[in-house]
Amino acid sequence: MDVECKYCRALRFVAERKVGSSEANPVFSNCCQGEKLTAQQIPLLQDPPSFLRELLTGSTPRDKVFRKNIVKYNNALCMALVHTNWVNRGAGTVKL
Ligand SMILES: [Zn+2]
Repeated sequence: MDVECKYCRALRFVAERKVGSSEANPVFSNCCQGEKLTAQQIPLLQDPPSFLRELLTGSTPRDKVFRKNIVKYNNALCMALVHTNWVNRGAGTVKL
């Protein structure tokens, strides 16, 4: 993540830019929807619960192990909250 969205200042990968925008002047659609939302319209993040804050900033062995494995935890849980409406379209074909 080394490119800043010029509208909301989110850090992005240049490969995430909208189709049709250039690497020199990338436009992103899934942070602020291009220029449709300004940084002032995007709500600030709330402070995390104290337990999570300790994991993210603490210096205990538990905190360090958490930070070392945070990507694995995120990957393991990223699909845990997906809501689906399953549509069975016959043998072997499922639409989400
Ligand atoms: Zn943006």
